[in-house]
Amino acid sequence: MSKSKKTGIYIHIPFCRNKCPYCDFYSNVQDKDTIDRYISAIIIELKTRERLASYVEGKISADTVYFGGGTPSLLPAEGFERIMDALRENINLSPESEITVECNPSSSSDRLFSVLKRIGVNRISLGLQSAVLQERKLLGRSGTRDEVSKALEACKRSGIDNISLDIMLGVPGQSEESLEETLGFCIESRVKHLSAYMLKIEKNTPFYRMGSKLMLPDEDCFCRLYELCCEKLEEYGFKQYEISNFAKDGFVSRHNIKYWKLDDYLGIGPSAHSFYRGCRFYFPPDTKSFISGAKLVADGFGGGIDEYIMLSLRLVPGIDLEQMSRKFGNNSVKELKEKARPFTELHLVELNENTLSLTRKGFLLSNTVIAALIS
Ligand code: SF4
Repeated sequence: MSKSKKTGIYIHIPFCRNKCPYCDFYSNVQDKDTIDRYISAIIIELKTRERLASYVEGKISADTVYFGGGTPSLLPAEGFERIMDALRENINLSPESEITVECNPSSSSDRLFSVLKRIGVNRISLGLQSAVLQERKLLGRSGTRDEVSKALEACKRSGIDNISLDIMLGVPGQSEESLEETLGFCIESRVKHLSAYMLKIEKNTPFYRMGSKLMLPDEDCFCRLYELCCEKLEEYGFKQYEISNFAKDGFVSRHNIKYWKLDDYLGIGPSAHSFYRGCRFYFPPDTKSFISGAKLVADGFGGGIDEYIMLSLRLVPGIDLEQMSRKFGNNSVKELKEKARPFTELHLVELNENTLSLTRKGFLLSNTVIAALIS
């Protein structure tokens, strides 16, 4: 990674009101006292850098901050204020930084958004998942889409208009019609960014335990849903820039793109991962131990050729072959082109003079194609 590039800061907020049946992210239901002690633990780490110090020397320069979760909007507004003050006091935060907070519509309010606006938050990511009541219920989302509309309006009233919505593809029972309804809601909401995640059935979740009782769309239906999503969003001016991400011009998520471009980022909080100056490390997924000072866990070195291929191919422009040759030598490019040939014939991979990328069809089979390219 180029050392002149600035770091992204990720703050994990590991609290949720309830656990959604498909989710295996690290989060749990907590009381007010634990939330207060957690905010203080984040601030102490930002101030003393006691744990990060083994990997991070000198003052950190950052240009993105991302509060993710869990459900960050469960923090009291003052909690964000205290954390942002500590960030600004202890990190060189560019004035033009992108500062995002993930919010759940059911825990969003005018007051929260106006405080976030005042402390410099300029991007909100709202969880919609689906605009269809039946699908929302199945996904464990309380409230109707009207609740999401109200949160969107409150957010816009506060003056934050860079809003992203999360939706889900492959929900049990989802059809092209129901997806059109969800996409229509997003388009009418005039948001600037949309993430369309494919539902994955993770072990140790209620969805996993339901097994075949869960009526998941079959492979063909899933492909049609993905294609419909890409086509419809494109028609309304959202450019796809990553397998699951779409943005209006100028609204690509500057923080998330750091993950795929192997730029530096530092994660703070239980289960938060970091990639900094080539090293990977993370905090153990346990809120209590984070509060009581658990150390970081080393996770080896990152940025090798396999990781580079895998992450670059998630992006629509794909691999910059000149850059790859500079980083890993010309033979690696030759070898990659050779391995990619059968997939270009199947229209899963596109090879241009200086780029190698997955096609839309290739995105649907990305795991298989990428595994073959890095084998
Ligand atoms: S709100 Fe988000 S993080 Fe929390 S349980 Fe649901 S999906 Fe997981």
